[in-house]
Amino acid sequence: MSPGPLPCRGDQPCPCARISANGKALLFDACCGQYLEGEAPTPTPDAASLMRSRYSAFVLQRESYLLATWHASTRPAQLGFDTTGRWLGLEVRKAMVTSATEAEVEFIARFKPQGASAWRLHERSRFVLQDGRWYYLDGVQLT
Ligand SMILES: [Zn+2]
Repeated sequence: MSPGPLPCRGDQPCPCARISANGKALLFDACCGQYLEGEAPTPTPDAASLMRSRYSAFVLQRESYLLATWHASTRPAQLGFDTTGRWLGLEVRKAMVTSATEAEVEFIARFKPQGASAWRLHERSRFVLQDGRWYYLDGVQLT
């Protein structure tokens, strides 16, 4: 069982480590916070933003957000988090719009479990746009 979602202050750098046009780290409020927080969060404008917000949701253990942004056709019943390890970072390699309602995002995420070597997830994820919102569909692991 995970202990529940972690807080993140709006004036702290976003967990997804997005860099603004002037080369500064974006703050949580100005980045994934607007999608993760609130009663009726803003839909992400594109698949890459959804990808980033889902990474931040993994960092902050926001299970409800991860499930809500997972397409109903592939969504698991629940998620577990490794609460003893920590995420080391996200690198979005490529974001491609493949049709009017489909996009792909290639990324590398790194995680350090407690007492074990860090591992990296290199994945090309597929996203679909439905009723004005982007959803994670599935992903292929790359090496
Ligand atoms: Zn972010």
